[in-house]
Amino acid sequence: MTAQAAESRELATVIGLEVHVQLETETKIFCGCSTEQADEPNTNTCPVCLGLPGSLPVLNEAAVEAAVKIGKAIDADIPEETTFHRKNYYYPDLPKNFQITQYDSPICQDGELEFSHESDRRRVGIRRAHLEEDPGSIKHVREGTGPLESRTCSIDRADYTLVDYNRAGTPLMEIVTRPDFRDPGEVRAFLEKLEEVLEYLGVFDPTRDGSLRIDANLSLVDAAAVNDDGSIDEAVLEDANRTEVKNISSHRGAEKALAFEASRQKKLVQSGREVAQETRHFNETHGNTVGMRSKEAEKDYRYFREADLPPLRVSHWKAEIPIPELPDARRDRFVAEYGLSEEAASKLTSTKQVADFFEAVAERFDADLAATWVADELLGELNYRDMAITDIDDRFDEVERLVELVAEDEITTKNAREIVLRTMLDEGDHPDDIAEAADLGKTSGDEVQQAVEAAIDENPDAVEDYHDGDDGAINFLVGQVMQKTGGSADPDDVNQSLREALK
Ligand code: ADP
Ligand code: MG
Ligand code: ZN
Repeated sequence: MTAQAAESRELATVIGLEVHVQLETETKIFCGCSTEQADEPNTNTCPVCLGLPGSLPVLNEAAVEAAVKIGKAIDADIPEETTFHRKNYYYPDLPKNFQITQYDSPICQDGELEFSHESDRRRVGIRRAHLEEDPGSIKHVREGTGPLESRTCSIDRADYTLVDYNRAGTPLMEIVTRPDFRDPGEVRAFLEKLEEVLEYLGVFDPTRDGSLRIDANLSLVDAAAVNDDGSIDEAVLEDANRTEVKNISSHRGAEKALAFEASRQKKLVQSGREVAQETRHFNETHGNTVGMRSKEAEKDYRYFREADLPPLRVSHWKAEIPIPELPDARRDRFVAEYGLSEEAASKLTSTKQVADFFEAVAERFDADLAATWVADELLGELNYRDMAITDIDDRFDEVERLVELVAEDEITTKNAREIVLRTMLDEGDHPDDIAEAADLGKTSGDEVQQAVEAAIDENPDAVEDYHDGDDGAINFLVGQVMQKTGGSADPDDVNQSLREALK
């Protein structure tokens, strides 16, 4: 193609993901070592995960159960028989010089996941999801006297490298999507949904460093090759030169890396150059990707059957292992059962913890109050402080007490929101102590009535304005009453009492 023809070409972006998820099990996938994060390197190890000669792997049942749960959640087929393979390569984090993984009969096949993006419902195919072991972790270090953490650096600047086998053997599920994404924003929305589902299933700990790691494949094809239904023919996909960006560890990182990569490839194509099929590395700090190596081909890995592990027959587990109600179903139920808006229901079901908490509060008080306090007030204030629900999940009883104070009319909604909740989050105090210290007890009806009468007596001008039809004058009077009651009256009640009194 001439450069001119290339420039005028309309291009479509094609993206497919390989997502590595650490499964939350107590022990590693092929040995009894703990998966807890240890303070000291190389302490959660044994002959199996160190790859010592003569040691034999034993498959962890909990990891297989987690895989089956994921399979159910993404509506995948679980084959009669699934097997393990050795993927051979040499690297310091891989003491056996091979990784035990799955190859031609993965435990989950042909699933899909639905998610929302820009108010569209999108569905992405999951080609496969397979079990494998995590390698160890390595750290490149510069010589020096400061603490180790301050001396870690990229490999090209390192004086030496440290290896830690604590992570080696942590169970992983690698989830491989079809190349169904058409822009980086969709990828981010998908990852958020995937994490939600994994969390609901209780198989994944999102707060753990490196628990979700993403490789993202991107290519450009002629826009004309996209069929009317949005699909693209296999042959076109096969033909497109794609890059695989490694080392992405967050949703936002994935979006950023792919946006960079899409524009880099577009510039190449539009200037009439080729996109090299290669593996690239995402640099989170610079927001760019750099070439690492030409993409290895499957044959480089010399896959062969892991003879130390027998074939696994667990297809019947799909019927036996229950999974909880998933976010979509729960959202729809919240709309139907509690009369919530789609938006509120989505917010409330975004994590299982929030949804469970909402239901507990809704059962004790009422759904509207629970939705307001959990979805709007609590999540809003947490968000504002860059806090997560997990930061306060041991204080749900205190939040419930706050809702109770409002429900029983002991404090005003305004004070509950602006003083009690904020102080709870900022200072860690108990709602009762905050209410007492700030003297927030709601002023009784009598006191409000007295203040209303006093305000009317003292402000004849405002009263006259009100009677002349100046409705704004009522706000002035409300302000006077609020002042007299030290802000502890409910402004709406005061407004009403004033209007009554002025009739
Ligand atoms: P490989 O055999 O190289 O591992 P796969 O067919 O297994 O390739 O796919 C690996 C990943 O690449 C998948 O996530 C898939 O969605 C993605 N992929 C496949 N074709 C394309 C393409 N043309 N553009 C972008 N991603 C693609
Ligand atoms: Mg692959
Ligand atoms: Zn071990």
